[in-house]
This record gives sequence, C-alpha cells and structure tokens, in this order.
Amino acid sequence: AAKGEGRNRFHYFTPSMQRDAKHRMRLIQDLRHAIAEQEFELYYQPIVGLQQNKCLKAEALIRWRHPTRGLVSPIEFISVAEETGLIVEIGNWVFQQAARQSAIWRDRFGVEVQISINKSPVQFRDEGECFDTWVSLLKKLNLTNNNICVEITEGLLLDGNEAISATLERYRESGIQVSLDDFGTGYSSLAYLKRFEIDFLKIDQSFTRNLDSQSNDFTLCEAIIVMAHKLGMKVIAEGVETEYQRKVLADAGCDYGQGYLFSRPLPSEEFEQRFIEVRLANTEVEKTDA
Ligand code: C2E
Ligand code: MG
Ligand code: MG
Ligand code: MG
Repeated sequence: AAKGEGRNRFHYFTPSMQRDAKHRMRLIQDLRHAIAEQEFELYYQPIVGLQQNKCLKAEALIRWRHPTRGLVSPIEFISVAEETGLIVEIGNWVFQQAARQSAIWRDRFGVEVQISINKSPVQFRDEGECFDTWVSLLKKLNLTNNNICVEITEGLLLDGNEAISATLERYRESGIQVSLDDFGTGYSSLAYLKRFEIDFLKIDQSFTRNLDSQSNDFTLCEAIIVMAHKLGMKVIAEGVETEYQRKVLADAGCDYGQGYLFSRPLPSEEFEQRFIEVRLANTEVEKTDA
C-alpha cells in the first residue's frame, strides 16, 4: 500500500507488520537452507479407479522436514517460494524425485504407477530450459509412456497464452500427461478447455463435499463429468472422504477418486506396502483362483 501513496510519504510499519516481515525473511532464509540441505520429502496419495476400484495413480505432495518445526505443510511455504522464485528449484527437485520413484516402482515391482506432480505457474516462466532437462531425464529412465502427469491450475491458462498451449502440446508428444487441478475454483471461461491439451480434470474438493443427489454440487459434478468425457478428458474427484461420495461419483461415471476414504498422502515406503505390494498379492490370488 505504501508504494502507491507517493514518494514524499513516510512508510509506516506497525508492530504486526514488522513481525510479519521478520517471519517472512526467516522463512525465505530457511527455505534456501532447506533446498541446499535437501530437507524436502514427497508423500504419495493414491488416485483410485472408481470403476475398477484399483489404485492406478498417485499424486506427489511435498512436505518439508524442518529441523526444529517438524513436518511443514506446503500451504505454509509454496506461496513464498513462488514469490521469491525458489519454487523453480524446488519444483525441479520434485520432478526428479517423482520420476526416480516411478522408475524404482517399475523396476522393483514391474508395475507402472503414474505419478502426478504439481507445477506452479511461476515454473512456466523459463519453460524451455526446464522442459529439455525434464524430458532428457525421462528418456534416461525410460519413462516416456505417461509415467508422469503435470498438474496445473486454471490461472495458467487464463491469458490464453500461445506459448503455454505449445508447451502442453510438447508435453503430450513427450509422454507427459496434463491434469487441470482444482477445477471450478478459478475464473474460468471454459473456452480454454477446447484450446489446450488436457488429459484429466480434477474436480475441486469444494464440489465433492456436499454430494447428496438433490444438491446443486451433485448437478455440477455430473455436468462436469459429461462435459469432460465429451471433450475427451477423464475426471478425477478430489477430497473423497465417505463411501457415499465414492458411490455417487462412481454412479455418475467419474473415472477416478482421490481422498482420505482411500488414504491420506503417505511416505513412499508406506505407499509401496499398502498400494503396490498388496495389489500384487491380490493379483496372485486372482491368478490362483482362475
Ligand atoms: P492440491 O494439489 O489440490 O492437493 C490436494 C490437497 O488436498 C493435498 O493437500 C491433500 O493432502 C489434500 N487432500 C487429499 N485428500 C483429501 C480429503 O479427502 N480431504 C481433505 N480435506 N483434503 C484432502 P496438501 O498436501 O496440504 O497440499 C496442498 C496444496 O499445496 C496442493 O493442493 C498443491 O496446490 C500444493 N502443493 C503440494 N505439493 C506441491 C508441490 O510439490 N509443488 C507445488 N507447486 N505445489 C504443491
Ligand atoms: Mg494437485
Ligand atoms: Mg487440487
Ligand atoms: Mg488444492
């Protein structure tokens, strides 16, 4: 606010503003340290096929193991990381980590788990360089068959930017899929849906929350599913917490669900035990039965 008030005005800082500024400086310092010391971890949340009732994909969600504060949620640091540009380095780490994990699971268990990563609009500013590095790692790990999916938000598509549209096309050509995260919460005109190459719509959890069949939210979910399918996209419902929500969504033809009903985000070893080893064990059983 002080900036717009003319250069002859004094800038006042209230004690609470000073505290906020200090808190922010500290956070930025800590984030730089965290990048250097590799204090980040990826947690994995299953994305379950609602028609097959199988875990087919996972979303990688970043956590910060802070030396004194313990596990810190992304909600507390992603926006500052975006404002300072630190998100570029963090985002590259997330990508490499997710790609390696997908290769590890394939090599160890012979299963392909597509891993989704969240990519901030800020990361698209120097996309050319980033894209080449990412694609060469995927090639090196032999992961060019939709093993990685990038989650973007509506804000990125708002400008109707030709460069973004070209980028998403290159993603598709390189075997990287694209999800539109938090669908329905941005200032969307829907026009972009036909102009960009998008594979999955993720219905935001604010719509999944009140899903009884009389509600407007149910009508919206149903309409989104029909529209997405007609446009050749699959639908993932976020925030599925109850069996009732799962059933309503499955009956409405929704392709995938993600939420606490299936599991919270888990450290990689736990995800592996609960969703990969178990799945393989069940497949063995099916085989012996047959
Ligand atoms: P998002 O991408 O929409 O991720 C889904 C969030 O919903 C996650 O929160 C997840 O833990 C939470 N969630 C999943 N199932 C349920 C449920 O059934 N009920 C409820 N209430 N919540 C559920 P999380 O892990 O705290 O992440 C928050 C946001 O931080 C993410 O929202 C994403 O926007 C951002 N984020 C996380 N990791 C990264 C990252 O690596 N890079 C970037 N740029 N952003 C990230
Ligand atoms: Mg996401
Ligand atoms: Mg989301
Ligand atoms: Mg969200």
